[in-house]
Parts: sequence; structure tokens; C-alpha cells
Amino acid sequence: MKQLILLISCNILSIVSVNAQNQADTQIYKAQIIYTADTGFSVSTSMVVSNGVILYVGTDKTADSLFPKAQSINYGNNIIYPGFIDAHCHFLAYTKGLSQADLVGTKSEQEVIKRLKKYVKKNKARFRTIESNPTPWIVGRGWDQNDWENKAFPTMDALNKAFPNLPVCLSRIDGHAVWINQTAINTIQLNPDTLLEGGEFIFNQPTATTQLPNQSSKEKPQPAEKHSSEVFTGICIDNAAEIVKNQIPDVPFSVWKPYLKTGLKNCHSQGLTQLVEAGIQVSDIDMIQDLQSKKELTMRIYAMLACSEDNLSYVSRNGMTFTDMLTVRSMKFYLDGALGSRGALLKGDYCDQLGHKGLQLMTIPKFEMYQVYLLNKGFQVCVHAIGDSANTIALKTFNKNIPGGYDARWRIEHAQIVSGKDQKLFSKRSIIPSVQPTHATSDAAWADSRLCNTINKGGYAYQNLLSQSKVIALGTDFPVEGISAIHTFYSATQRMDAEGELEKPFIGEQALSRKQALWGMTLWAAYANFDETRTGSLETGKLADFVVLNTDIMTAEPSKILKTKVKATYLNGENVYTR
Ligand SMILES: [Zn+2]
Repeated sequence: MKQLILLISCNILSIVSVNAQNQADTQIYKAQIIYTADTGFSVSTSMVVSNGVILYVGTDKTADSLFPKAQSINYGNNIIYPGFIDAHCHFLAYTKGLSQADLVGTKSEQEVIKRLKKYVKKNKARFRTIESNPTPWIVGRGWDQNDWENKAFPTMDALNKAFPNLPVCLSRIDGHAVWINQTAINTIQLNPDTLLEGGEFIFNQPTATTQLPNQSSKEKPQPAEKHSSEVFTGICIDNAAEIVKNQIPDVPFSVWKPYLKTGLKNCHSQGLTQLVEAGIQVSDIDMIQDLQSKKELTMRIYAMLACSEDNLSYVSRNGMTFTDMLTVRSMKFYLDGALGSRGALLKGDYCDQLGHKGLQLMTIPKFEMYQVYLLNKGFQVCVHAIGDSANTIALKTFNKNIPGGYDARWRIEHAQIVSGKDQKLFSKRSIIPSVQPTHATSDAAWADSRLCNTINKGGYAYQNLLSQSKVIALGTDFPVEGISAIHTFYSATQRMDAEGELEKPFIGEQALSRKQALWGMTLWAAYANFDETRTGSLETGKLADFVVLNTDIMTAEPSKILKTKVKATYLNGENVYTR
């Protein structure tokens, strides 16, 4: 007890010394409740901030008496929480996507065409063929054949008819498949009559063309037998989609910049103060740093580098990168594709495509080679693993390569289907599951059709994973899902979707408690970014990233959670959004 008193009096002394220096830059934020999300989940009503740092969290009386000259900002009946962290998203892709045709929520192929025509009309200046832009592409994203009456993949016929002269490339909602037209094929001189590792061109009859890679297989497409009687549909999955996407000219910064601003504002309006960019390029790092230094990107970013030659040589040259606003110390790998496009690597056959087990996007020896390299560089390894077989590979290799007692914090992104036996593999080397609760509730409608029995396969078992890992990081994977942190909280705790399409909770026994969900969006997400000493909770000495909500989401009726409004968002103590 003596020690505790000493500690408290030391804290107060240091506060008073700051207090004596200057109070003009000091604010006291008051609210009905301040959820600190610290390890004890303590609550308070006053928080003192100076120059972007939290000086004190506690009672109004103490705050007022310690800082009598500080400016008081009273949020009345509203509630303060730590700024939300999206533990897995694609912010740059999202903002670029805002300049593309939005196909989210389309209910048929015809509706896709209708939206595209409207989009081209609205942006007609961009689709004029000029010397500097000889082949303007129509790029769109967000279609999902699972939402259509005809749930089979579409074909290129309708696209060819509507857009005979412009190349079209439309990404599926999960980003793991694209739908292209004949002009796109001609423009990039694509030959779909090839087999390739970890990818597939879809022909009009399902073909078992996918080969599981082995150590000796190369990543470049290899010539293969012709699909004599079959017609290429224009659907390209995983690495086949990458071949197409890599050849589409990038959106010019002048076109993209206003959308970047809009995207940032959208994120602030959801209370987001920190994002995990799940796979970017070296060139993005310079751009992010430049925008952050000009205060045009007021967002804390934890960037995972995508696995590529350029990025690996950046790691070898530069090691880790840290600024106040950007951390680069991790690399992201893909072991498989997505469940919606049947690219997730399963142990057994897909229930709705017998003989097909999904796609393995990287060989085990290659993946292990990267793990050992990055371990020696002190880098965190993050791997996309959705299917149960991909998760087995991720967990077994991580357990093999992380030395005992080492604070690696390697992450499995999605950890969507993990068998009961494999779930236990999270604990030994403290592997972090990084999951997206809105994926669970979006997939709920059709997961059983792919997996036969999602529960038995260990699907979306967040509570089980948490009981092993002790920490779970929550994100959205936006733009695959929406950007709303409140929807993440709702899906995680209620296992119901915000759109109200589910009739009952999806595997409700795996719901997280509200406390767990809030930690997953704050303190645990910060921990997964090695940032828990600076962010993730509202504590003395930490950075003042916080959000003001009009609802107490820790106690509100479930239906009221969805009606929550963000009143204000603060980053480094600066107001970046007010409603
Ligand atoms: Zn992702």
C-alpha cells in the first residue's frame, strides 16, 4: 500500500509540475462516462490533455483542482472512448475505390450494367480517349453473385454488349476475383488458356484446373492444355485476378486526391484514429509520410508491407520505419483466397463444388523462408489465412519458427475457419487472431453452402480463439466490408448484421462480450501493432486519440447500438471531426 501511495503522489507531482508550466494548451474533457479501456477497464468522468498527451484521467474534482486554468470541454451526457483502431483494412484501396464505380449491393447483372452506364456518363471526361489516356478503363468494385438470384459467376456477354470499346474490370466484393470483358482481354493480351499457381480463369463449365503448388512450381503462368469446347467467362480468381489488376493503369493522383480526402473524413466520422493498412507498397510509404507531414492525412497508420521483391529489398535496406504517425515493421502474406469466391484453402472439398479444395497461394518452404528472414529483421509476420487448411499451415509454421519466449506478435489475418484442434495452436507462441466480425455476419447466409457445417469446421469461432490467444484484434477489411466501427462492435457482440437480414444470431455462442469487443477495437488492436504503450487506452502519458459517442454502447439495448452517432473524434488531442 505504501508503494501505491508513493506511486500516486509521484504521478500527481509530475502533473502539478506540468500544470505550473502552462495551462493555456491544456483541456479538460468531461463526459458522463469515460471508458478508458485500460487493462482494469476503469471508468472516469474527466480527462486532461495537453499537447496531444493525456496528463490525467479521473474525477472532475481532482481535474479541476489540479488544472484550474485549463479550458473545460464538457460533452455532457455523451460518452468518451479511446479512438477506434481498424486492425485490418485497405485505406488507400478504399479511397481509390471511391473514384471507381460502386457496385456494392447490386442485386443482378443487369443492375451492374445500369450502374456502370450511369458512372461512365457522370465521369465522361475521364473516358474520353485522348493521347495521354489511350485506353481508359472502367474499373468498378463490390459485386457479389451471392446476393443475386442467379448465384453462378456472371459471364462477359453483358459487359461486351454494353461496353464494346472500353476495357472493363470489376472486382468482386472480396477483392479476390475480377470480372472482365473482351476489350480488357485484348488490351492486356491476356491468355486465359494457361494454368497458374494459386489462381484460376473460370470457363463456362467448372474445371478442376487448379493445381496445388509444390516447391518447384513457379509463380509465372505456365502453358497448359487448351479448354477446347469451353468459353472463358471473364472471371479471374486470385492470382489470375492479380495478373489483370497489375496491368490496369493506376488512378492518377490528381483524380484520386479529392477521394482520399473524402475517405479520410469518412473514417474520422466513424471514430477511427488508427488504421492497419493490410498490404501496401514501398511507394505508398513515401506518399503516406508526405501527406502526414503536410497534415493532409490525419490518421495514425500501421502499415503491413505486401510481400514483393521491391518491398523485401526495402526491408533489407531500411529495416523498420517509425514516425509519430506511421509504423512499418510487418509484412503481409497470402496463404489462400476468400471463401466467397471458393479460393479459401480447405481440408476437405467445397460442399458446393466437389473435387475443389480452394487455392494455396504460397508454398510452405517459401513461406517459412520469409518467416525466418523477417524474424531476423525483427519484423512481424502477418498472414491472410481463411480456410482451415491455410490456418493449419500458418499456425504450424509460426509455432515452428517463433523462438520460445520471443515477443513476436505474429498475426493471422481473418483466421476464419480454424479446426478445434488447430485453435489450441494460438496459445503456445501467443499468435494473434486478427478477425473481422462483419465478415462473419455477411458470410452467415451462405457459409454453410460452402462448408456444409460451419460450426463443426470451426468457423468464425472468435470466443474460442480468444480463449487461446488472450488477445483478439478486430477490423473490417474495408472496402470489403463497410468502414463502420460501430457495426464491428455490433456484429462482434450480437452476431447479427446491421442490415437486419439475419433472423437469428450467427453462431451466437462465439459472440464476444462488449468489454472484449471494445478492447479488440482499442487496446488489443494497439497491442497487435506493438503500440499499446502509446495508444489503445486512455491513460496518463498516452496519446490523446479518442472518440465521443452519443450512446453508451457498453450498456445500451442492441438496437440502440446501431443508432449510435459519433459526436467528435480527436487525434493527438486535436479535433479532426465534429458532428
Ligand atoms: Zn484484407
